Amino acid sequence: MTETPAAAPDRATRIVVVGAGFAGFETARRLLRHQHRSTDQPIRVTLISPDDFMLYTPLLPDVAGGLLDARFVAIPLAESLPGAELIAGRVDSVDLDRHTLRIRNREDAEETVEWDRLVLTPGSVTRLFDIPGLAEHARGLKTATEALYLRDQMLEQLELASREPDPAVARARRTFVVVGASYAGTELTAQLRALADEVARHRGTDPDDVRFVLLDMADRVMPEVGEKLGDRVLEVLRGRGIDVRLGTTIDRLTAESAELSDGTTVETRTVAWAAGVTASPLIQELGLPTEKGRLTVGADLSVPGHPDVFAAGDAAAVPDLTKDDAITPPTAQHAVRQGKVVARNVLASIGVGTRKNYKHNDLGLVVDLGPRFAVANPVGVHLSGYPAKLVTRAYHLLALPRGANRMAVSAAYLGDAVYPRPLVSFGLVSADEASFPRSQGIPAPGAES
Ligand SMILES: Cc1cc2nc3c(=O)[nH]c(=O)nc-3n(C[C@H](O)[C@H](O)[C@H](O)COP(=O)(O)OP(=O)(O)OC[C@H]3O[C@@H](n4cnc5c(N)ncnc54)[C@H](O)[C@@H]3O)c2cc1C
Repeated sequence: MTETPAAAPDRATRIVVVGAGFAGFETARRLLRHQHRSTDQPIRVTLISPDDFMLYTPLLPDVAGGLLDARFVAIPLAESLPGAELIAGRVDSVDLDRHTLRIRNREDAEETVEWDRLVLTPGSVTRLFDIPGLAEHARGLKTATEALYLRDQMLEQLELASREPDPAVARARRTFVVVGASYAGTELTAQLRALADEVARHRGTDPDDVRFVLLDMADRVMPEVGEKLGDRVLEVLRGRGIDVRLGTTIDRLTAESAELSDGTTVETRTVAWAAGVTASPLIQELGLPTEKGRLTVGADLSVPGHPDVFAAGDAAAVPDLTKDDAITPPTAQHAVRQGKVVARNVLASIGVGTRKNYKHNDLGLVVDLGPRFAVANPVGVHLSGYPAKLVTRAYHLLALPRGANRMAVSAAYLGDAVYPRPLVSFGLVSADEASFPRSQGIPAPGAES
């Protein structure tokens, strides 16, 4: 199959990018550099996203923990991508033969958009399992809505517990279960623990009255950082009174309890589910080959058999050329770099520059674990404690793609060193708004697609 011509000679090639996360944002940013140049290959960049911001997800645990304001981790698209056509909406379906896609906006109105080149970067959603009650009663941590919900839910439950006459109900309100001891769930637990400690300090109550249970099916926490750092993390979490249960998950969830696979039942009103991700539901809609649920692409990030279609980030199964027979892990580190390569290869497909295969040696991970502790393994160097904290915070500040956000986050970190965490619950996000279907667009259980 050969590429279709860029566009009729008298019009610009329309490049449509679906999703404004790490990969889509970077793709659009790179393409716009070309759009702004006057050239004999003019392009028009369209970015479709349900939100008018790019979300810096690695700092969501800090939002849930009340350390950062949600706006600090939201990069406004209109300001950051001048010259792009921004369309607010969610892509429902793609017609690969007609080169069109269908968008649904917040008011459920539909629109059809045409493209000459399509870049699919719709990312991932929380991976749910067929566990009774999970989709109804647990909440995730992939969106600002969910992070704000978890913060407010914890503060509200602690407030209600303080005036609850029934000790069993009060204990349930003060119990928080997090599932998934990979970096996202572990960071979330650490940040919620720090917020609960602040509540206890403020009220003069015992911080140990607030109970955290962190579960994972794996036999270790944060396998991504290796055995030594993982053991150190486990020691620190347990030292903070967190009940870490490995080889354990939830068997059944109700509004008031979690039945665990170790045979125990935890009475709780709050379960956060951070047990991995799966590609955006849009990928299944395409009817194209997938690998582990992610869209199959070549090393140049083009979709086999569809030379005008490209994909990158969590939604794409990108061959990892640094390893045998592997695909790149779903991380922001890869998504940003794939965004750069995809932009280059899209331009090459219309005759500008040359193609390149995606190849990146993983630089390691930085994981902020609340007050005075972090772990990091930059380029294979294992760090924990204050040095890791420094590296982690410096990394995020540099990686945030906007000066004003960097400044706001820096100020919040400085403030945190001097002042108590603000105990503010706006209560603006309802449990329904934070549910998986409404917050992440995951089809409700039993819903027809
Ligand atoms: C709490 C948390 C902490 C993390 N920490 C780290 C970390 O420290 N380091 C790291 O490397 N990675 C981290 N990650 C992983 C990282 O966030 C992802 O790998 C990264 O976001 C993937 O980028 P992406 O562009 O593929 O997708 P995303 O960033 O998820 O963006 C996808 C975009 O597509 C939009 N979209 C989805 N479906 C549609 C549709 N149908 N139509 C239109 N738009 C659509 C979404 O709204 C979103 O804007 C973390 C993730 C979480 C949740």
